[in-house]
Amino acid sequence: MTDSPYWNPRHETMPREGIEALQTRKLRDLVGWADARVPWQSKRLRDMGVTGDSIASLDDLRRIPLMTRDQWMQGQVDEPPFGPILAAPKDAAIRYHMTSGTTGKTPIRVLESMKDWEWIAEMWCYGLWGFGVRPTDTVFVAFGYSTFIGFWGLHYACEKMGCLTLPGGAMATDQRVRQIVDMGATVVCSTPTYALRMAQEAKTMGVDLAGSPVQRLILSGEPAGSIPATKKLIEQEWGAKAGDTAGMTELGTIMIFECADQPGGTHIIEDNFIEEVLDPDSGEPVGYGELGERVVTSFGRGFIPVLRYRTRDFVLKVPGSTCSCGRTWDIYEGGIRGRVDDMKLVRGTNVYPRAVEAIVREHPEIDEFQIRLYTAEGRRDEIEILVEIPDEVVDAGALVARLEKELADAHENLRFGVRQADSGTLPRFELKAKRLVDERTLIGGEGELRGQS
Ligand SMILES: [Zn+2]
Repeated sequence: MTDSPYWNPRHETMPREGIEALQTRKLRDLVGWADARVPWQSKRLRDMGVTGDSIASLDDLRRIPLMTRDQWMQGQVDEPPFGPILAAPKDAAIRYHMTSGTTGKTPIRVLESMKDWEWIAEMWCYGLWGFGVRPTDTVFVAFGYSTFIGFWGLHYACEKMGCLTLPGGAMATDQRVRQIVDMGATVVCSTPTYALRMAQEAKTMGVDLAGSPVQRLILSGEPAGSIPATKKLIEQEWGAKAGDTAGMTELGTIMIFECADQPGGTHIIEDNFIEEVLDPDSGEPVGYGELGERVVTSFGRGFIPVLRYRTRDFVLKVPGSTCSCGRTWDIYEGGIRGRVDDMKLVRGTNVYPRAVEAIVREHPEIDEFQIRLYTAEGRRDEIEILVEIPDEVVDAGALVARLEKELADAHENLRFGVRQADSGTLPRFELKAKRLVDERTLIGGEGELRGQS
């Protein structure tokens, strides 16, 4: 067994010209395939004068129309249940999945073939291997296996690599902690929120996780895996390294992962995806080091050609050479920075839940928190943060005051009411955390309304 740090050494260290040539070739094939197999795509492409043969370089990407989530949803309404996006008959599928519904009420529905699952697992192998997971590992997957795609692909990747894989579905948190310890798991996979939740449970059970064989945590499902304070807290609680990944139901798998060198960001799997970063308003590309919206083109999705899909995720791209691992693949510094839809406008100030979390998690004394927006006196937006501070030795009053100041300082002096909640009263989460509760009767400015569409 090779001890290369790379799953695919040739592609992961390929010079930029090689990556671009590979992407151009794959883009030509993808466009040709979408044109031939999906009439809806074909019309969109041909309206812009785009055919597979007309793709000569990556500059031609710009001629391909952007696809939005709204268009995908409208397609599902017009031609239920999947819309006009499928490149093969439904009968050829072996699995159905849907989004978990954190944005919008109707889920995105997707189908996969056997070939999709081969590819989905392969993408997870890049991430797992790249973070140091090896066939000798015992991997516990803390995930409720369901129609939400989540860690399904990771599960198959672990089997593909030859790890001993423990499917930890349908279990209470204490049962999961017990099994992790009893089975000597060396790798644990969960959302960042749930990694902290398991650590809290272990404490009440008197289990020393930091002293357990767990060496690595693979995080996904929330941007918090790349929030430094949250990641540090998880690593301390578990006595293990935590690696961020991010995927999407629309793609079926991950498109970015953190390598073992932990550069404070996630490498883009550039031999299988083109990740553009665009100004969300103008649609123009932004350069390295500038915040923008990620737009993804996927070469592996077998049932659904995904061409220039607007993700509504904010990212900031830097060159792969900023990491010491030797990969040439570019990096999203800070991972996924949040979603356009997450932004809340409170008395004229933008508030992002991720930014609030980054500040709250600097205080490990806080077990759980919630962001609550409400309307005061029938007309004024207010924001308050509820915090649980279970340790009675902690001076909660001083901590609350300090947090209020830190939050205001980071938000143009916007007043945050920080309030202590009784221990165990705030909701706990197994999948994607929903820590923001918006109870406002009058919803703020125009930007807000746009964000909610
Ligand atoms: Zn790296």
